This record gives sequence, C-alpha cells and structure tokens, in this order.
Amino acid sequence: MIRYECKTAQKGFAAGRARLVRGGKAGEYRQGSPAEESARLDAAAAEMNRKLAERKARAPEAEATLLEAEILMMNGDEFLGEARRGIREDGKTAPEALREATEKLCAMLRSSGSGYIRERCEDIRGLAAGMAALITGGGEGAPGEPCILAGSELSPGEITLAGAEKLLGILTETGSPTSHVSVLAGNLGIPYLYGLEGLTDKIADGDYLILDAEEGSVRVHPDPETIRKAEERQAAEKERAEKQQQAAGQKMRTRICANISRAEEADGLAAAGADGIGLFRSEFLFLNRAEAPGEEEQFEAYRHAAEAMGDRETVIRTMDIGSDKKAEWLETPEEINPALGLRGVRVSLKYRELFRTQLRALLRAAKYGNLRIMIPMVASVWELEETEKEIRAAAEELEARKEAYRIPDVGVMIETPAAVMIAPELAEKAKFFSIGTNDLTQYTLAVDREARGMDEYFNPTHEAVMRMIARTAEAAHAKGIPVAVCGELAGTATEALIRLGVDELSVSAAKLGRVRAQAAEAEKKSEKKTAGEKAPRKTGDILSPADGELIPMEEIPDPVFSGGVMGECVGILPENGEICAPVSGTVTTVAATRHAVSLRGEDGQEILIHAGLDTVKLNGEGFKVLVKEGDRVQQGQQILEADIRLIRERGFSPMIIVVRIRN
Ligand code: PEP
Ligand code: MG
Repeated sequence: MIRYECKTAQKGFAAGRARLVRGGKAGEYRQGSPAEESARLDAAAAEMNRKLAERKARAPEAEATLLEAEILMMNGDEFLGEARRGIREDGKTAPEALREATEKLCAMLRSSGSGYIRERCEDIRGLAAGMAALITGGGEGAPGEPCILAGSELSPGEITLAGAEKLLGILTETGSPTSHVSVLAGNLGIPYLYGLEGLTDKIADGDYLILDAEEGSVRVHPDPETIRKAEERQAAEKERAEKQQQAAGQKMRTRICANISRAEEADGLAAAGADGIGLFRSEFLFLNRAEAPGEEEQFEAYRHAAEAMGDRETVIRTMDIGSDKKAEWLETPEEINPALGLRGVRVSLKYRELFRTQLRALLRAAKYGNLRIMIPMVASVWELEETEKEIRAAAEELEARKEAYRIPDVGVMIETPAAVMIAPELAEKAKFFSIGTNDLTQYTLAVDREARGMDEYFNPTHEAVMRMIARTAEAAHAKGIPVAVCGELAGTATEALIRLGVDELSVSAAKLGRVRAQAAEAEKKSEKKTAGEKAPRKTGDILSPADGELIPMEEIPDPVFSGGVMGECVGILPENGEICAPVSGTVTTVAATRHAVSLRGEDGQEILIHAGLDTVKLNGEGFKVLVKEGDRVQQGQQILEADIRLIRERGFSPMIIVVRIRN
C-alpha cells in the first residue's frame, strides 16, 4: 500500500476503484479522408452536445449554468470552428485537430487577467478529451460501477459525463477548493482531493483507492484488511448521512437554509429540510446570454422561488455581476483588478435602469411569499440608502402601472472589511445581515479567491475573519437584527459559527442534512453549558481546575481522553480562563505549546491538566503559563491562563481535561 498526501477541497471519505480520465494509452487510429474526419468530429460533437444538454436539464444548483457556459464555448468558433478548419485546411485527423484547437484556445484563455476565464481551460480540455474518446472508441464515457474519478485535471463537463450518481469521490493533480469542480463535488456531497503531483504515473485505471479528505490522503493498492475497514467506514458514513437527513424535522434555534442559483432549485427544498433560501444568487439569470433578462422573466423566476418556499424566507440577492461573473452583454470598462472594481451593488448603482427593472420584478414577486432583498458588496451606508431610494422609485413606477407589489425587508451582505467596521451603522437601517465569508476572506486576507496556489493563504477560519464574524454578530444583535452566514464557511465551521452567535447558516442543498445535524449537536452543547449542573470545585481529593460544567470521561469528544488512553480523566467546560492546580505538588512538565501542565501530587500521583481539545495546534497562542517546571504549587493556586474567547474563535473547544496519569 502507498500513501500520498493531498489537499482537501471537499471533505468526506471514499473507497473504490479509480476511473482514470485521460490516462489510458491512445489506441491505434486510422486516418480517413478530410470529409470522413469532419464527419467523425461532427458526430462526436453532436453526441457531446446531447449528453451535456441531457445533464443540464436534470442538473441541480449552479451546475446547469456551468454546463450552459461549457456548451457555448464548445460550439464556438474558437473551438469546434478551429478544429474543423484544422481538418479541412491542414489535413489533420479529428483527434489531432481537437488537440490543437484546445491548445490554441487554452493559450488565449490563459492570457486572461481573470482567474475565472483561466479556469475555463480545464473545461475545454475535458470536453476535448471526451470527444477524442468518442472518436477513437476510448473508454471515457460513463462508468458502469461506482468509482473514484481521477485525472490530472478534470472539468465540470467530465464530472457530468461520468454520471454524478456513479461518483464516490474525485482526485486530481491540479485544482483548487473554489474551482467549479469543487463546487460540483460539494453539491454531490462527495470528497474531492487535489494536489497529487504526477497523478497519472502513480495511479492506473482500476486501481483500488482510499480517499480520506479528513486527513488529506490517498492510499493506493491497500491490503485486504485495510479495504475491509475502509468499506466499513464508508458504509457507516453513508448511514450517518442518512440519519442526518432524518433529523431534518427537528426544531432548532439556528435556521438552516439553502443557497441556490436558479429558481427551479427551490422545488423540493422545504421537503429536504431547508428552513428557507438564505441566498438566491440572482446574477446567474443574467450570465451566459446575449441580453439582460426582462422584468417579466425575472418576476417569474423570483415568484417561482418565493411560492415554492411558502412562508419560509426567500432571500434574493440583487445581481452580483462583475469580477469573475462577467455579463457578456454589459459593456463595462476594462479593469486591471476586477475583484476590486465594478461588481455587486456598484454595478446596480451605475446601471440604474437595469437595477430598477430587477427591483420592480422583486417587488411584484414579494406578493407571492416571504421574499427579502439582499444587497451584495456593500462598503458604505450610502449604498444601502441609494438602494432604498431605488426601491421606492420602483414602487412608484408599479403604483403608476397599477401593478400589485409589496416592499420587502432589505438586508446587507457583509463581505467587505468596511462593512464589518461600519456594521453598527448598517444595522440601524438594514433588516438583516448575511456574511459572505468567501469574499470576506478574499478582501480581509488580500487573497484572490479564484487564484491557484494560494490555498495556504485563503483561510476562512483565519483569526482576522473569525473576529470579523464575531464583531458583525455583536453589532447585529445590539440592534436586534439577525445575522446569517451564507459563504462556504457555513458548511465547514458550523459549531464555531454557532458559538459566535450566528442565527442562520445557508449552504448548498447537498449539505443541508449534515449541517443541520452538526448545528443540533452544537446547540445541545451550548444549552448543556448554560442549563447544566456546575462542576463541584472539590471532586474527592482532586479540585476542579476551573468553575464550569463537569463532563464525564465517556462524553469527552476526543477518543484519546474518552478512551482512557493516558488514564482516568474528567472534562470541565470552563466559565472563565483561570485554571488552577487540582492538587498540591510539584510541576513536572510544562508543554512547549503552553496548553498543558502536569503535576506530581504529594501522594506521588501524576496529574495532567490539558486546556482545550486539540489546542496543541494553537502553538501556544491564547495560553499563559504562570508556573515553571520544578515549582511547588498549592491546590487551588492559578497555574495557567487561557483566552477562552480566542480558543473558541479559532474553532476549538476550551474544555479542560484533568487526567490521573496511569502509572
Ligand atoms: C460570499 O462571498 O461568501 C458569498 C456567499 O457570495 P459569492 O460566493 O456568490 O460571492
Ligand atoms: Mg460574495
């Protein structure tokens, strides 16, 4: 068995055979006349178009929009047109012509300043490979058995071609957590690992793989015992996911909502357990088309979503056009840094008629459900005020037309550091906040969310981002308005966000069950902490090192402690960061990372005081040790100070564990 380290784009665990895309040896190809080669190319293009159209009709979420873009690109002059020319004028075979057209188009895409456009290269390579396989009879169509799709680079089209229902996981050499392949894997609820250098030399079609996206590894050629354990784990995780789905009916404090990109995705969301739509990315209605959608088309889309959700909230974000979401029909000035340019509310306030049309459609649709309007990319209070003026003007126009309408609540997306800093002022006027952690991370940490190779810098749980979330929640609650998180972080740092006081988490439909179960668990813990019995300061001969709730050994959420690996122990959920010596004795060790101290009691018994779970990862930050090795301490004397708020903000549990070390 060989184990390789990879990077995780989407979490999960999968075990199964590899389906290698573009990894096989090219078969012998018999060249035909230019007319025959052209006919082969056209037949492959027609088949590919048919497959993509079929997929698009059934596709969920953002996938349909991606497929539409792929179809347009494939049939364009720069790709199919160029390949046809290669056959006709240069006497190439169909696969050669495809290869050359791909390289030319990719060279053009790669020179773009936009990360989004550059990433389209992967799509076009995927399409070309799929078509070449159709022409040469290669086996790159849909797999017959469930498999792990592997390839040096994969495109959304290849994922679609392979058949979503057959995929257990995805593995690539190049990729990024914000790529469209990653979005699709997230929607399918399957693990996605990338970063395996030289993938096609290491993995062959049909190899047995174990993808562990929790630890970021892939195992190739595992032994039978490892396969047995992996398959058991896979079955257990599937069962757990099903249970999570069943938990959908539970009443909770935190609302769990869905993010959608097309109105039809609202169908069935309530049955799937969504408390509402927390983010409808309306800009997808405006992309990949020749002109902007009119008022009627928009009205129908918004009404459809609002009606499908009934009483449940339907938050529709006004068009977040710009940056990586360029609308071809809208002539905007060339920008060197599009992510810092004309996007979101800035586009709306520059093209007022376009905005007014969208607002009229929203106001009319608001009559049909619990619709709310949300504004993206806000950085100043005046942008909210201007939007409100536009809403009033749209209402007057509808009034004059004697059209039925309702003015819905207006909320603000918090996705710029400026919005965080002025959150108290924004909260005076907005009816709700929703934190867009994707952009908030990008703008706070100055890292392009679409750029490759920046993973170690794009960290949505960075202390700076977590503090911004905490600050936003405080400002919202001080003014009595709710705060949601609708960026990717809502699906990955559920517990930490609930601890920070977030009222709503909005995630892709595939994550609803898992996030609801995690949120229920987090709520249970926090209730227990407030309503629970306090730890008696005195526990036999050992004093509790802090005030707080006592947690029995078997309930400590860390198998090292609950399994008694080091010895008998007990947990305390502390009310504050003052940590005292549980016994009188001598300090034997102080961890270099300052989160743990051990003492030898007067009876010779060694006691370990471990502050927080997994807090070794904080590398000392948040902890101050008040003693040193060899010091004599008295029972109840403070030995350690822990910054509980910081520990929580970083997503760790501050639970203190006292272990009676086994001799
Ligand atoms: C965000 O920025 O977190 C967000 C939800 O908006 P989008 O990803 O569409 O920019
Ligand atoms: Mg955003």
